[in-house]
Amino acid sequence: MRDWIGRLLSIAAIAGAGALFTGLVFGAAFAALFLFAFLLIVVAIALSARARLARWLADPAIDDIPDDEGTWGEIYARLHRMLREQSGARASLSHALWRFRQAGEAMPDGVLVLDADNRIEWMNPSAEGHFGLTFKRDRGQAITNLIRHPAFVGYLDAQHYGEPLTLKGGAEGERVLSVQLVPYGNHEKLLLSRDVTRWERLESMRRDFIANVSHELRTPLTVMRGFLETLTDARESDEKLYRRSLELMTGQAERMQRLVEDLLMLSRLEDSRYPLREEPVDVPALVRAVLVEAEGLNRGTHRIASTVGPQWLLANREEVRSAFTNLVTNAIRYTPAGGDIHVSWEVEGTEAAFRVRDNGEGIAPEHVPRLTERFYRVDRSRSRSSGGTGLGLAIVKHVMQRHQGRLEIESRVGEGSTFSCVFPATRLAPASGTVAEVTPIRGVA
Ligand code: ADP
Repeated sequence: MRDWIGRLLSIAAIAGAGALFTGLVFGAAFAALFLFAFLLIVVAIALSARARLARWLADPAIDDIPDDEGTWGEIYARLHRMLREQSGARASLSHALWRFRQAGEAMPDGVLVLDADNRIEWMNPSAEGHFGLTFKRDRGQAITNLIRHPAFVGYLDAQHYGEPLTLKGGAEGERVLSVQLVPYGNHEKLLLSRDVTRWERLESMRRDFIANVSHELRTPLTVMRGFLETLTDARESDEKLYRRSLELMTGQAERMQRLVEDLLMLSRLEDSRYPLREEPVDVPALVRAVLVEAEGLNRGTHRIASTVGPQWLLANREEVRSAFTNLVTNAIRYTPAGGDIHVSWEVEGTEAAFRVRDNGEGIAPEHVPRLTERFYRVDRSRSRSSGGTGLGLAIVKHVMQRHQGRLEIESRVGEGSTFSCVFPATRLAPASGTVAEVTPIRGVA
């Protein structure tokens, strides 16, 4: 039997029994009075419970739910359970939303939500940074009022959002952004942005590098081809012409070889799979060897003096030799005949420095920070005519980075320059007669 029928029957039984008892004791009139009073009480209880429910429903609070006996008690208990479940579901939903928002805010890419009228609904901090916007201030604004870049406005209007758009000169001037619109839902859009400044810079460096290498190789090749054509047309007996042409072609071939060797050296130095192989290097002996080689190149054109300390270095012999040779060769190349060059290797406090000082023409300050760029030359034709590849200082810089050291350049126009390879004193090694086992100690810097 249903619950409510059971309750109704028990109320009817109480009313009947009460009425019967009152009727037997006090008479029929009192029985009717009893029944009337009893019904009134039952109705009053039901009405007051309903009123409590109505009052509570006007402002339902889970902790303030009416507490009653019987059917009303059951109703309240169920309501209480329902509310608890609802508030649990709401809490987990808002937690999920909060986490989603947190994830959106943590994204390194910019995310901006646009409504159907292209007004800003939400954006994460990366988007704020990319476009120079502030969510609190710009919420609800039309995006085209805030990003006025004609390319962006055109992209938004064209409605072909398959490919991203590259925007140059964003909020911070030099920034390059890749932006893409992604339509979703009911004409809403996501505006995704990514900072590709670094990638663009690398890409342009790569383009410049390929153009430079091609140019550097093309010049000697063109010269060689010219000679080959001349020789093809020449009379067999013209031995003088043959000899001269072969000499000049050999010079061009050497130039190409130097370039290719420098390129290979640079690529090895930059390759992170190439760990630094260190050994105790007898720097005084190495400097002497570099100076002997330099004298061969110099042929008495400059006065070369040296101050060489006894310290050894824990380093890669070939790399250090290449760096030192580059600096000494440059001093010879860029110092006019009769100039002075001084080479030194000394410990200075917590560092040890190999310095090459010349009293040549010096370098204007605006060039100095760019000297270590590949193929950067102050005087292009002078560098080429003296056999320079334009890669020497780039090699020195990389070698020094791999040894946790640095290349220092000091120069004054008209007075001369000092190029120094500065190593941390922690790299100094005790002098030894035996060559230590070659062990890779560190990875590439
Ligand atoms: P290069 O092969 O042209 O010498 P480097 O990278 O070794 O290339 O040097 C870059 C440029 O720095 C040179 O072209 C030259 O203009 C300048 N330079 C280097 N060393 C000196 C120096 N001792 N005095 C003046 N200029 C120098």
